Amino acid sequence: RDGCVSDSSDSVISSGSDAEGHVHKVVLLGEHGVGKSSLARIFGGVEDAHDSEEAGNTYDRSVIVDEEEASILLYDIWEQDNSQWLKEQCMRMGDAYIIVYSVTDKASFEKASELRIQLRRARQSENIPIILVGNKSDLVRSREVSVEEGRACAVVFDCKFIETSASLHHNVQDLFEGIVRQIRLRKDSKEQ
Ligand code: GDP
Ligand code: MG
Repeated sequence: RDGCVSDSSDSVISSGSDAEGHVHKVVLLGEHGVGKSSLARIFGGVEDAHDSEEAGNTYDRSVIVDEEEASILLYDIWEQDNSQWLKEQCMRMGDAYIIVYSVTDKASFEKASELRIQLRRARQSENIPIILVGNKSDLVRSREVSVEEGRACAVVFDCKFIETSASLHHNVQDLFEGIVRQIRLRKDSKEQ
Protein backbone atom coordinates (compact mmCIF):
# COMPACT_ATOMS: atom_id res chain seq x y z
CA ARG A 1 0.00 0.00 0.00
CA ASP A 2 1.23 3.49 -0.80
CA GLY A 3 1.74 5.15 2.56
CA CYS A 4 1.95 8.62 1.09
CA VAL A 5 -1.46 9.00 -0.47
CA SER A 6 -3.27 12.06 0.78
CA ASP A 7 -6.69 10.55 1.18
CA SER A 8 -7.22 9.61 4.80
CA SER A 9 -10.20 7.37 4.25
CA ASP A 10 -8.31 4.17 3.45
CA SER A 11 -6.51 4.09 6.77
CA VAL A 12 -9.65 4.63 8.78
CA ILE A 13 -11.06 1.28 9.74
CA SER A 14 -13.09 1.40 12.89
CA SER A 15 -13.41 3.06 16.24
CA GLY A 16 -12.28 1.70 19.56
CA SER A 17 -9.00 1.24 21.33
CA ASP A 18 -5.80 -0.30 20.03
CA ALA A 19 -4.29 -3.67 20.91
CA GLU A 20 -3.17 -2.40 24.32
CA GLY A 21 -6.50 -0.75 24.97
CA HIS A 22 -4.87 2.64 24.64
CA VAL A 23 -6.64 5.69 23.24
CA HIS A 24 -4.42 8.61 22.33
CA LYS A 25 -5.90 12.04 22.90
CA VAL A 26 -4.83 14.50 20.24
CA VAL A 27 -5.84 18.15 20.62
CA LEU A 28 -6.07 20.72 17.81
CA LEU A 29 -4.95 24.24 18.71
CA GLY A 30 -4.80 27.39 16.62
CA GLU A 31 -6.52 30.61 15.75
CA HIS A 32 -10.01 30.87 14.33
CA GLY A 33 -10.25 30.20 10.61
CA VAL A 34 -6.93 28.41 10.09
CA GLY A 35 -8.60 25.12 9.14
CA LYS A 36 -8.70 23.05 12.34
CA SER A 37 -12.24 21.83 11.79
CA SER A 38 -11.57 21.12 8.11
CA LEU A 39 -8.58 18.94 9.02
CA ALA A 40 -10.55 17.25 11.80
CA ARG A 41 -13.45 16.43 9.48
CA ILE A 42 -11.10 14.83 6.97
CA PHE A 43 -9.62 12.74 9.75
CA GLY A 44 -13.10 11.83 10.93
CA GLY A 45 -14.23 10.98 7.42
CA VAL A 46 -17.17 13.38 7.64
CA GLU A 47 -15.97 16.27 5.51
CA ASP A 48 -19.13 16.27 3.45
CA ALA A 49 -20.96 17.56 6.47
CA HIS A 50 -20.95 21.16 5.30
CA ASP A 51 -18.75 23.94 6.58
CA SER A 52 -20.97 24.55 9.56
CA GLU A 53 -19.65 26.55 12.48
CA GLU A 54 -20.34 23.78 14.96
CA ALA A 55 -19.25 24.50 18.49
CA GLY A 56 -16.84 21.64 18.90
CA ASN A 57 -16.35 18.04 17.94
CA THR A 58 -14.42 14.97 18.94
CA TYR A 59 -13.52 12.29 16.41
CA ASP A 60 -12.83 8.73 17.47
CA ARG A 61 -10.96 6.66 14.89
CA SER A 62 -8.63 3.72 14.70
CA VAL A 63 -5.98 4.05 12.04
CA ILE A 64 -3.36 1.65 10.76
CA VAL A 65 0.10 3.15 10.69
CA ASP A 66 3.14 1.04 9.87
CA GLU A 67 0.97 -2.06 10.00
CA GLU A 68 -0.07 -1.38 13.54
CA GLU A 69 -3.40 -0.13 14.77
CA ALA A 70 -3.62 3.09 16.75
CA SER A 71 -6.68 4.53 18.37
CA ILE A 72 -7.02 8.30 18.25
CA LEU A 73 -9.46 10.67 19.91
CA LEU A 74 -9.13 13.95 18.06
CA TYR A 75 -10.43 17.00 19.90
CA ASP A 76 -11.55 20.01 17.88
CA ILE A 77 -12.81 21.93 20.90
CA TRP A 78 -10.32 24.77 21.31
CA GLU A 79 -12.90 27.34 20.15
CA GLN A 80 -15.92 25.67 21.71
CA ASP A 81 -16.32 28.52 24.17
CA ASN A 82 -14.21 31.39 25.36
CA SER A 83 -13.70 30.18 28.88
CA GLN A 84 -10.26 30.16 30.39
CA TRP A 85 -11.22 26.87 31.98
CA LEU A 86 -11.62 25.14 28.62
CA LYS A 87 -8.29 26.50 27.36
CA GLU A 88 -6.56 25.19 30.46
CA GLN A 89 -8.29 21.83 30.10
CA CYS A 90 -7.10 21.61 26.50
CA MET A 91 -3.54 22.35 27.55
CA ARG A 92 -3.67 19.58 30.13
CA MET A 93 -5.62 16.81 28.47
CA GLY A 94 -3.66 16.03 25.32
CA ASP A 95 -1.24 13.16 24.76
CA ALA A 96 -0.22 15.03 21.62
CA TYR A 97 -0.95 18.38 19.96
CA ILE A 98 -1.49 19.70 16.48
CA ILE A 99 -0.90 23.46 16.38
CA VAL A 100 -2.36 24.89 13.19
CA TYR A 101 -1.77 28.24 11.50
CA SER A 102 -2.68 29.42 8.03
CA VAL A 103 0.17 30.17 5.63
CA THR A 104 -1.99 33.06 4.40
CA ASP A 105 -2.18 34.67 7.83
CA LYS A 106 0.96 35.88 9.57
CA ALA A 107 -0.93 36.68 12.77
CA SER A 108 -2.06 33.06 13.05
CA PHE A 109 1.59 31.99 12.68
CA GLU A 110 2.58 34.27 15.55
CA LYS A 111 -0.32 32.91 17.57
CA ALA A 112 0.98 29.39 16.94
CA SER A 113 4.31 30.29 18.60
CA GLU A 114 2.42 31.74 21.53
CA LEU A 115 0.43 28.53 21.89
CA ARG A 116 3.61 26.49 21.77
CA ILE A 117 5.05 28.56 24.61
CA GLN A 118 1.85 28.26 26.65
CA LEU A 119 1.87 24.52 26.13
CA ARG A 120 5.46 24.23 27.24
CA ARG A 121 4.62 26.19 30.37
CA ALA A 122 1.56 24.04 31.15
CA ARG A 123 3.37 20.74 30.62
CA GLN A 124 6.88 21.68 31.71
CA SER A 125 8.82 18.48 32.17
CA GLU A 126 6.75 16.37 29.80
CA ASN A 127 8.04 15.63 26.39
CA ILE A 128 4.74 15.72 24.51
CA PRO A 129 4.59 15.25 20.75
CA ILE A 130 3.66 18.42 18.88
CA ILE A 131 3.26 19.00 15.17
CA LEU A 132 3.20 22.52 13.81
CA VAL A 133 0.93 22.68 10.77
CA GLY A 134 0.94 25.37 8.10
CA ASN A 135 -2.45 24.85 6.46
CA LYS A 136 -3.92 26.33 3.24
CA SER A 137 -0.78 25.63 1.21
CA ASP A 138 -3.00 25.71 -1.89
CA LEU A 139 -3.49 29.47 -1.57
CA VAL A 140 -0.21 30.25 -3.28
CA ARG A 141 -0.91 33.86 -4.17
CA SER A 142 -2.00 34.97 -0.71
CA ARG A 143 0.81 33.24 1.16
CA GLU A 144 2.29 35.31 4.03
CA VAL A 145 4.41 32.65 5.74
CA SER A 146 7.06 30.77 3.77
CA VAL A 147 7.82 27.07 4.18
CA GLU A 148 11.26 28.06 5.50
CA GLU A 149 9.77 30.28 8.21
CA GLY A 150 7.47 27.47 9.28
CA ARG A 151 10.28 24.94 9.36
CA ALA A 152 12.59 27.29 11.27
CA CYS A 153 9.91 27.94 13.85
CA ALA A 154 9.45 24.21 14.37
CA VAL A 155 13.20 23.80 14.91
CA VAL A 156 13.22 26.56 17.52
CA PHE A 157 10.25 25.04 19.29
CA ASP A 158 11.48 21.48 18.98
CA CYS A 159 8.46 20.09 17.21
CA LYS A 160 7.63 18.46 13.88
CA PHE A 161 6.43 20.50 10.93
CA ILE A 162 4.23 19.89 7.92
CA GLU A 163 2.34 22.04 5.44
CA THR A 164 -1.13 20.84 4.49
CA SER A 165 -4.06 21.78 2.34
CA ALA A 166 -7.34 20.62 3.76
CA SER A 167 -9.04 21.78 0.56
CA LEU A 168 -6.85 19.59 -1.66
CA HIS A 169 -6.35 16.84 0.95
CA HIS A 170 -2.65 17.44 0.52
CA ASN A 171 -0.50 15.96 3.32
CA VAL A 172 -3.49 15.45 5.60
CA GLN A 173 -2.97 11.72 5.92
CA ASP A 174 0.76 12.29 6.46
CA LEU A 175 -0.09 14.68 9.28
CA PHE A 176 -2.18 12.13 11.17
CA GLU A 177 0.27 9.31 10.50
CA GLY A 178 3.01 11.60 11.74
CA ILE A 179 1.26 12.25 15.01
CA VAL A 180 0.79 8.51 15.59
CA ARG A 181 4.50 7.90 14.92
CA GLN A 182 5.46 10.71 17.29
CA ILE A 183 3.27 9.27 20.02
CA ARG A 184 4.88 5.85 19.54
CA LEU A 185 8.40 7.27 19.60
CA ARG A 186 7.84 9.08 22.88
CA LYS A 187 6.13 6.06 24.38
CA ASP A 188 8.99 3.76 23.36
CA SER A 189 11.60 6.10 24.79
CA LYS A 190 9.69 6.25 28.08
CA GLU A 191 9.55 2.47 28.32
CA GLN A 192 13.28 2.00 27.93
P1 GDP B 1 -11.13 26.64 12.11
O1 GDP B 1 -11.77 27.92 12.57
O2 GDP B 1 -9.67 26.60 12.47
O3 GDP B 1 -11.86 25.42 12.55
O4 GDP B 1 -11.14 26.67 10.50
P2 GDP B 1 -12.17 25.98 9.47
O5 GDP B 1 -11.82 24.55 9.29
O6 GDP B 1 -13.56 26.30 9.89
O7 GDP B 1 -11.78 26.73 8.13
C1 GDP B 1 -11.96 28.13 7.99
C2 GDP B 1 -12.17 28.45 6.51
O8 GDP B 1 -10.97 28.16 5.78
C3 GDP B 1 -13.28 27.63 5.88
O9 GDP B 1 -13.96 28.44 4.97
C4 GDP B 1 -12.53 26.53 5.14
O10 GDP B 1 -13.23 26.06 4.03
C5 GDP B 1 -11.25 27.24 4.73
N1 GDP B 1 -10.10 26.31 4.64
C6 GDP B 1 -9.71 25.41 5.55
N2 GDP B 1 -8.63 24.73 5.14
C7 GDP B 1 -8.30 25.24 3.91
C8 GDP B 1 -7.28 24.96 2.95
O11 GDP B 1 -6.40 24.11 3.13
N3 GDP B 1 -7.28 25.71 1.82
C9 GDP B 1 -8.22 26.67 1.58
N4 GDP B 1 -8.13 27.34 0.43
N5 GDP B 1 -9.19 26.96 2.45
C10 GDP B 1 -9.24 26.25 3.61
MG1 MG C 1 -13.46 25.21 13.85
